Amino acid sequence: TMAEDWARSDRYHNSFLHTEDEILDAALSNSTANGLPEIAVSAAQGKLLNLLASSIGAKRILEVGTLGGYSTIWLARALPADGELITLELSEKHAKVAQENLDHANLTNKVKIVVGPAHESMLQLHPETPFDFIFIDADKKGNLDYFTEAKRLVRKGGVIIVDNVVRHGRVADPEYTDTNVEGVRRLLKGLKGDTDVDATTIGTVGDKGYDGYLYAIRK
Ligand code: SAM
Repeated sequence: TMAEDWARSDRYHNSFLHTEDEILDAALSNSTANGLPEIAVSAAQGKLLNLLASSIGAKRILEVGTLGGYSTIWLARALPADGELITLELSEKHAKVAQENLDHANLTNKVKIVVGPAHESMLQLHPETPFDFIFIDADKKGNLDYFTEAKRLVRKGGVIIVDNVVRHGRVADPEYTDTNVEGVRRLLKGLKGDTDVDATTIGTVGDKGYDGYLYAIRK
């Protein structure tokens, strides 16, 4: 099937480009053992986040949607010694598992988990120094609200990435609807004519199927 071909392609490329990583493997197995859903980014996409954050020399990162902290680890590893990452999570349980995984990854001092509804947490943030990089990956119906706050919180030239904006092509399928797809469409409609950012969609295909990142730069 196509899904098997995509997963095999991911494994093939990763076998040349990634090294064995006990910390990331442990984060996933601990998350599964605690009953968290297996909806973290793929390894290839986690590494892409890491490389993008490294490319702009990100020192301050905001993440919306922590789950077990898998993408958090990829992102926090891009930070310099004095860098910091704030990650927002609704579920106490997910936050607890993420904290374990971040402690195991030796990232305790760089990462702060804020528990609560992400939109409210974002409204409370008034950082002296804006963020360099923001990754949005929580409930999809909140995408436009998160994106609007992210534009306020990111520096000029900073990057905002939103996960799962293609959804196996369903976002573009007029016959299809659900709250996740509607959340992405609402974001895209909000972005049409938005002169605060320049954005494009990067289609991603691999062991998580056919999806995409929205990649935006704050002007
Ligand atoms: N970024 C994670 C990764 O790749 O490892 C995956 C995040 S998962 C797709 C989405 C997370 O958003 C879940 O842990 C869920 O509990 C959380 N979430 C859902 N609604 C939320 C809300 N209103 N505020 C904050 N977090 C929320």
